[in-house]
Amino acid sequence: MTCMKQEENGRLGLSTRAIHAGWEPDAETHAVKRPLVMANSYELPPSVDWETVPFVYARDLNPNGRWLEELLAALEGSEDCIATASGVSAINGTFFALLSSGDHLIASQIAYVSVRTMLLEHFPRRFGIATSLVDTTDPEAVRRTLTPQTKLIHLETPGNPTTAISDIAAIAPIAHSAGALLSVDSTWSGLLTQHPLLLGADIVFHSLSKYINGHGDALGGAILGAKALLDPIRKFAVKDMGSCISPFNAWQIMRGSATLPLRMPRHCQNALRVAEFLETHPKVAWVRYPGLKSHPQHALASRQMDGFSGMLNFDIRDPRQRPELLRRLKLFTHATSLGHDESLIMVYDDFSGNEFFRVSVGLEDADDLVEDLEQALVLM
Ligand SMILES: *Cc1c(COP(=O)(O)O)cnc(C)c1O
Repeated sequence: MTCMKQEENGRLGLSTRAIHAGWEPDAETHAVKRPLVMANSYELPPSVDWETVPFVYARDLNPNGRWLEELLAALEGSEDCIATASGVSAINGTFFALLSSGDHLIASQIAYVSVRTMLLEHFPRRFGIATSLVDTTDPEAVRRTLTPQTKLIHLETPGNPTTAISDIAAIAPIAHSAGALLSVDSTWSGLLTQHPLLLGADIVFHSLSKYINGHGDALGGAILGAKALLDPIRKFAVKDMGSCISPFNAWQIMRGSATLPLRMPRHCQNALRVAEFLETHPKVAWVRYPGLKSHPQHALASRQMDGFSGMLNFDIRDPRQRPELLRRLKLFTHATSLGHDESLIMVYDDFSGNEFFRVSVGLEDADDLVEDLEQALVLM
């Protein structure tokens, strides 16, 4: 597996970008790390040029948020970035900024639960925005769902919670030939294993709360793409709706991001090891991990991604024993969220009532993770 090779397009490598983009010694104190700037407002010159003044009020833009935006734009290879309070505020704020009543949106049916709720309930019932949630692992299903009102196609790949992979490069021309934009929630890729803009997407979303911060101790979201597309989204979602990132969360996430290129290959390696172990275990009914040949979209994932990230699904042969497995595990914490340093496990369903374990494989020693699963499975 070639996990996260450096791109050969004249830019600095990903590790170098993670450590240098957005980072500068502090001009006033010469501290080698960016300071945490908690001020709400910024002193203005007597006559203000609102187009060029860098900071006015911390909800519109704050220094720590901006430095994080520069770092993330450099990593994703996008012209600009908007940092927001959470992944959900990035996605739903963008939908609200781009769509009006009468418009139509197509989205992956396997999508983050709060995004689904917005698309299935609030948009159609309260705001007059028509939505179609379809199986986007089939590009033809997307094409068939287009209407003259379709303004946006939103993919989540890999999809939460099932690891479903959608073909970004195949769906981008379907969106563009219909005059629609293509957005991709790339959270599960951990940014480094997938670059949707290079595959034709217009907008990329990340929950920074996951792999990018990586330590399970901050919330944030990011919207990435061309500046002309992002400027009105920033005005609407951040300034007018108030989805700004707090300086402290931005500072914390920027600190975490510096080691993302070290962490992601380890998540990939550990997850493959755990998936391969589970796949051979007699008490395990099935395993779903994009890096396994048995995954329904393994060939597509191999083509589209550079590493398969750290998320997998499995189930045991006797589902009544799920609580017992959770009770026996010592290293996998029974909790939601993902992309943390520690491994996490929880029971999810695929929105059709099929339940299974969703595992976020952490950065522990793979041998220890396998041994922990082995001792927990032994009596199932
Ligand atoms: C967690 C997650 C989100 C939401 O992010 P928050 O930062 O928790 O708001 C969105 N999309 C995916 C795929 C996620 O896993």
